[in-house]
Amino acid sequence: MVLRVFMTEKNNARKCTNDAIKIILYVVFMTTLFLLYFNDNNYEIENSIDYHSAEYNSHYRKVIITENSSKISTKIDDNVKEGYVVWNDNCQIPNISAYDKTIKNLIKKSNSPKCFSTLPLTSVILDVDKWSYTFKINHGVHSQISKSIVNCCYSPIIRNDLKFKNNPKDDDRYKVEPKCYPINDSEIIPKSVEYMMVTCELRPNGDKLKSAVYKDIHAMVIDKGQRRFRNADIPDKPSVLIISIDSLSRLNLIRSMPITYRLLETHGFMSLEGYTKVADNTFPNVVPILTGMFVNQMTKRCWNSPKDEMDECPFLWKDFKKRGYVTAYLEDEPSMGTYNFGKYGFRNAPTDYYSRPYMLAAEHYLPVVKYDGMSFCLGPRSAPDRVYAYMEDFVKLHRHHGYFAVFWLNTFSHNDVNTPSAMDQRTADVLSKLLDGRLLDNAVTVVLSDHGLRFGAIRETHVGWLEDRMPAFYARLPTGYVTARPSHRAALAANKHRLTSPFDLHLTLKQLLFQQLNDDDDNNTNSSLPVAMAEGCPTCHSLFRLADANRSCEQAGIAPHWCTCDEYEELDRRSRIAMDGGKYVVQQLNALLAKYRMMVRKGYACSNLSLRKTVSARSRVNRGNGRREYLLVVETLPGRSMFEVTIGQEDGSGAFGMLGDISRINMYGFQSYCTDDWRLKKHCYCVKKNWKPAEDVTPACVVSVLQMYNIAKTVLRGTTFLAPYLL
Ligand SMILES: [Zn+2]
Repeated sequence: MVLRVFMTEKNNARKCTNDAIKIILYVVFMTTLFLLYFNDNNYEIENSIDYHSAEYNSHYRKVIITENSSKISTKIDDNVKEGYVVWNDNCQIPNISAYDKTIKNLIKKSNSPKCFSTLPLTSVILDVDKWSYTFKINHGVHSQISKSIVNCCYSPIIRNDLKFKNNPKDDDRYKVEPKCYPINDSEIIPKSVEYMMVTCELRPNGDKLKSAVYKDIHAMVIDKGQRRFRNADIPDKPSVLIISIDSLSRLNLIRSMPITYRLLETHGFMSLEGYTKVADNTFPNVVPILTGMFVNQMTKRCWNSPKDEMDECPFLWKDFKKRGYVTAYLEDEPSMGTYNFGKYGFRNAPTDYYSRPYMLAAEHYLPVVKYDGMSFCLGPRSAPDRVYAYMEDFVKLHRHHGYFAVFWLNTFSHNDVNTPSAMDQRTADVLSKLLDGRLLDNAVTVVLSDHGLRFGAIRETHVGWLEDRMPAFYARLPTGYVTARPSHRAALAANKHRLTSPFDLHLTLKQLLFQQLNDDDDNNTNSSLPVAMAEGCPTCHSLFRLADANRSCEQAGIAPHWCTCDEYEELDRRSRIAMDGGKYVVQQLNALLAKYRMMVRKGYACSNLSLRKTVSARSRVNRGNGRREYLLVVETLPGRSMFEVTIGQEDGSGAFGMLGDISRINMYGFQSYCTDDWRLKKHCYCVKKNWKPAEDVTPACVVSVLQMYNIAKTVLRGTTFLAPYLL
């Protein structure tokens, strides 16, 4: 008996020791993650421009267009009520200050890491006239390097087309040629080399024993000999240049990128202040722009299984390509690519120029330095700098050709409301260069975002709620186009204070593609062509037509959950409606998890969720349809996940119904490590199959040792290390 007690105590002691070791390992693990991902950016914002003043309000160009049969005239618009960005019978969106006092304490200036102390050692210089690139060794960048013998060689990086699906990761494929070809300073790079890995051996003072290796990857916009047409003399067929900075609301552009904001405001870019997203995150907001459909419509049309690639889908770049435009798509964070995070992207490059092999190789072969969790430095250059440099070259080379190009930036804006400030000057510089060099003279240029920041402290405020739904949008028309179609510019300018959505942008781009200068009706969106309607929003139309003065969210394709047209009143979170509504939301979440349960890795499951509490409840009457809506924030267990949902009730039965998607408004961390499926990623709390939740509460920040083991395995396999960051 004594022996048994002694052994039990000994076992307990051993168990405690084991537990202590686990806790220490856990703390070390979490601390390492913390240090890796979160930089301390406690700098107060300097020289920020306070645009919420009367001076800012005076910027409003109150222009209205009255449509008189096919002719349009412009006059001053007095309809915009002071203090609102949109004001009509169906929609009233307040003009909240970017520096509202409820968020002022959350605003800081952020500094990105330096990728290289001076200039990178190697670069490629474009000769536009000869359409060739010269390799350059920057000997003078460092005293140690200037005294070194530098021997460089390059290995081309290639990606061949595939006829059939080869494996699920077809879009991740690229090959670095094993042979490294010697290359000298100032040597012309062969014209067939699109991407290349450069390896240089440095021997300080010629000493072989002290040699060091330098690596970089360069991208060249090569002449692919594709069909091109000269649009410099056809003002009616401008190119399209889209620059998107992910997760950037209009207010955060004003706040965190004041230099860029001022440049846009003063260089002919027109803002849409009522531009509202139509879905939660990146992909479902991009699909409406590029296809005119909601994702669920696209899945029926051309993307039957999430394991399929999207090559068959009717993205706009295909239409532009068919009509002779050169096409390009570049994105700076391949691990979280818009078409690849929890999805399989494209089997073959969807556009003539496609950066994925370049960025994947850079992320794989070069040292990566994180900036707030994103792969910011890829070797000696930052990922956004790589995209900007490529964009400059692309625009220079194709300035006279019709093109359709999308440049998507995530790495300095996705995870934090303050990090865009680090790239403000650089972004403004790039835009200035394009403008000053008259490189945008034949291009419609759109600078926009897909949504605002979707999580974090700001998201818990009313301002953050609004910003999430209202991304930045600026568009600039080239002078030739404005001369050819002055009514289009007038309509775009007047739509500044109308409710607009990504579907309108889709139809605008289509109009640019299909219209001809001799159209009889300048105001018509080419009704003879199958482009006048977006499947996701039959009532939407091109931004070159004035949006209806009384446009409602429904008419703009915006579901009630994303609609900011009506203000809410606070309800007691313990009220009957809040409690019952909360339970209903959790039922819906569990139904979603059950529907896609096959998309979880073998041996794992998404835990059934239960309601911990209804965090907040608000109610409003939808001006558009007169119905009452409830905005609920619920917290679920396990994992303390926070979801925001809009629900309504049926008149007779009082049964609840969902009015749009589910927003996940806190970071899901590693909770969904067992699935890559884009529909589950935000909602799943992974558990081993047959796992039973403990009775007590599981704090959001705590994962079990077993989970940590599985996470580590996942990380080591290199699959979804970036998964904690919501897309
Ligand atoms: Zn996004």
